[in-house]
Amino acid sequence: MVKIEIDPGAGFCFGVEQVIKTAESHLRQGAGLYGLGDMVHNSSEMQRLHSLGLRTISHSQLAELKPGRILLRAHGEPPSTYEMARALDIEIIDGTCPIVSHLQKKLKKVYDSMDRDVEQLVIFGKPDHPETVGLLGQVGGDAVVVGTREDISKIEPGKKVHLFSQTTMDPDQFRDVEEALNELLAAVPGPETGDVFRSDCTICGQMKKRKPGLSSFAGRHELILFVSGKNSSNGKMLYEYCKSVNPLTYWISGEKEIDPGWFQGISSIGISGATSTSKDQLESVMSHLERMTSS
Ligand code: SF4
Repeated sequence: MVKIEIDPGAGFCFGVEQVIKTAESHLRQGAGLYGLGDMVHNSSEMQRLHSLGLRTISHSQLAELKPGRILLRAHGEPPSTYEMARALDIEIIDGTCPIVSHLQKKLKKVYDSMDRDVEQLVIFGKPDHPETVGLLGQVGGDAVVVGTREDISKIEPGKKVHLFSQTTMDPDQFRDVEEALNELLAAVPGPETGDVFRSDCTICGQMKKRKPGLSSFAGRHELILFVSGKNSSNGKMLYEYCKSVNPLTYWISGEKEIDPGWFQGISSIGISGATSTSKDQLESVMSHLERMTSS
C-alpha cells in the first residue's frame, strides 16, 4: 500500500484565493467581467475562470476597452492603471491583496519623506513581475530593482539605502542581498552602516513559512510530486528548493504529466505545490495517484 499525502502548507495563498472568490462572485451575477492579466499563474485555473465568463485582457488592450468592469489581480497595479480606467469610465474591482496594498503605501510614504539627493529606494524583486511594476509605479519608477547579490552593483554606494522586497521572493535570497548591501555600504568611508542602511523584509508571512514547512514535508516522503504552472516564478523557486531537500522530486503542471515508471518500489509519495496551485488540483493529482497505485 503506497502512502500518499498532500502538503498541509500548500494551496493558494490568501491573496490569490481572495481574488478568485471575487471573480467567481461577480461572474455569478452574470454581467461581463474583464481580468487585467492572469489572476493566477495557473493555466487550468485560468481556463476554469474563462469557462465561467472571465475575459482576460492585457494592459495594451485596456486602452481600447469600452466602459465595463475590470478586476485587478492580487499582485496590484501602478497608479497609471487606475488613472487610465477612470479616464475610460471603466469600473474597477480591486483584487489587490491587502498585504501588497499595505506595502505599496509604505513604499510611497518612505519615498515621499526621504531626501532623494542622498537616499535611494531598493526593491528586491523581479523587474518584470506585476507586483514589482505596481510597486515601482508608487514612486514614479524611482527605485533600483535587484534580483540577486550581483545586481547590487546597480545601486549608488554613496547614498543611504532603504531596502524592501516583493512579497513573493525567497527569504534566503533576501538575506543574501541584504548581506551583500551591508558589505558594500560598510566599505564606503563615512557614517556607520546602520545609519546608511534600512532593511525591511516585506516578504509575505505565507512565503516565509513555506520553505521550512516544505523542507520537513519533502524529507518525510520517498518521492515528491510538485504541482505548479511552469510560468510561476514562485513555483520554480519552491520546486528547486523541494528538489534540493528530496532529489526524487518531479515538477508537473497536472496529472497528465505523471509517468507511472516513477513509482517503482516507492511506498511514500508527497504532493505539494506553489502559492498559485489550488487544493483542488492537489486533490485531483492525489485521486489520480490512488487509482494508479491501487491497480
Ligand atoms: S504571496 Fe502573500 S502578499 Fe503576495 S498575494 Fe499572496 S498572500 Fe498576498
